Amino acid sequence: MEASDRKQAAPGQASRGDLPRLGSDPTRVYRLGIMGGTFDPIHNGHLVAAEQALFDLELDAVVFMPAGSPAFKQNKQVTAAEDRYAMTLLATSDNPHFLASRFEIDREGITYTADTLSGLREIYPSNVEFYFITGADAIAEVVTWHDAERIAKLAHLVGATRPGYDLRAAQRAFAQTDLHFDVTYLEVPALAISSSYLRDRVRAGQSLRYLTPEPVSGYIGKHELYSAGNTL
Ligand code: NAP
Repeated sequence: MEASDRKQAAPGQASRGDLPRLGSDPTRVYRLGIMGGTFDPIHNGHLVAAEQALFDLELDAVVFMPAGSPAFKQNKQVTAAEDRYAMTLLATSDNPHFLASRFEIDREGITYTADTLSGLREIYPSNVEFYFITGADAIAEVVTWHDAERIAKLAHLVGATRPGYDLRAAQRAFAQTDLHFDVTYLEVPALAISSSYLRDRVRAGQSLRYLTPEPVSGYIGKHELYSAGNTL
């Protein structure tokens, strides 16, 4: 990965901000992984999935993008975007190929992946290809997302699955649409870990050790996330 500029992006603007610098050599193709998720909280399953995508798909970098206001969670309680971003930053800081970005949390309104990809397309030259990585459950719904046609044109999709995950529903959804999506699935054993499992453990007063990086569990304890009276 080339040097990154960690300047904060202005709200709502398509700015290079904290994104990886890629694309300077016009004679080669670069591959940027965009790790989309709510990350409430980020855990080792997400990190292993991104690392696996980095190597299997020969990505140049993976940028973790916590959703500002997740499209399908408008009626659900989601931890403040700043906390989810801070935990993502802490979790990714020791990997030279990973970056955390404010790109979605600084955009106002509901977070639509099509808007994210269009914004990135304005920033990066055409020799940078996008690989949008998220959970296979979410990928299975892509055909129903806002402006799915634009998503199909702008990015390859990568669905990270838990072992034993049944791909038939996703395959049916893609087979029934006229849009052409390029989808790859990655089986990631570490995705037996989930954010809801971590939240449940915090509520039960149990340790998060080995489930998420130590600085993330420290942040959760310090800010009393997921339960009042948190003592982790
Ligand atoms: P979700 O419904 O909370 O997650 C679905 C499943 O995928 C969960 O099992 C989740 O596990 C897992 N998952 C989520 N992100 C993952 C990742 N990066 N790597 C591996 N597994 C992951 O999904 P969501 O977080 O709301 O949305 C996922 C992404 O899709 C976000 O970038 C969101 O903006 C985008 N999205 C876009 C639209 C739209 O544009 N209309 C609609 C929905 C979602 P954990 O809970 O453990 O993460």
